Amino acid sequence: MSLKNTIISILRNNMDKRVDWDTYFMNIAREVATRSTCPRKSVGAVIVRDRRILSTGYNGSIRNMPHCTDVGCDMVDGHCVATVHAEANAIIQAARNGVCIDGGDIYVTASPCWNCFKLIANSGIKRIFYGEFYRDEKSLKVAKECGIELISLEKKD
Ligand SMILES: [Zn+2]
Ligand SMILES: [Zn+2]
Repeated sequence: MSLKNTIISILRNNMDKRVDWDTYFMNIAREVATRSTCPRKSVGAVIVRDRRILSTGYNGSIRNMPHCTDVGCDMVDGHCVATVHAEANAIIQAARNGVCIDGGDIYVTASPCWNCFKLIANSGIKRIFYGEFYRDEKSLKVAKECGIELISLEKKD
């Protein structure tokens, strides 16, 4: 193979490896999740519109309060209630910065709990992409009724 053809073939291979947009944003959400401060579960969320990132969030304590990783979780009925969830924090960050998220999409590493689902629905976000299914069947059912798409990006391996 000539040098030119070798180079073309390398470039082609690299282009094949280029990730699609959904994978790109979910990969970023997974990176955001690594900032979580609750040892129970690390969740990351990225709010996107027109392929632009508007806001990010991960689950962590109330502002200026100690982290679960330092003082332990506050457990109620088997769930840590000390943290603000990733999706809520992403919406809050947009509000703090005066960023409109109406009509956007959210990429979240785990499907939203019922409370976060309600926040997402009323924020005007239309599509929820999730990396793994997490406990709440009610969100799935209500999403259909209120016209929000819940889309699984679960890895099938
Ligand atoms: Zn916790
Ligand atoms: Zn939640």
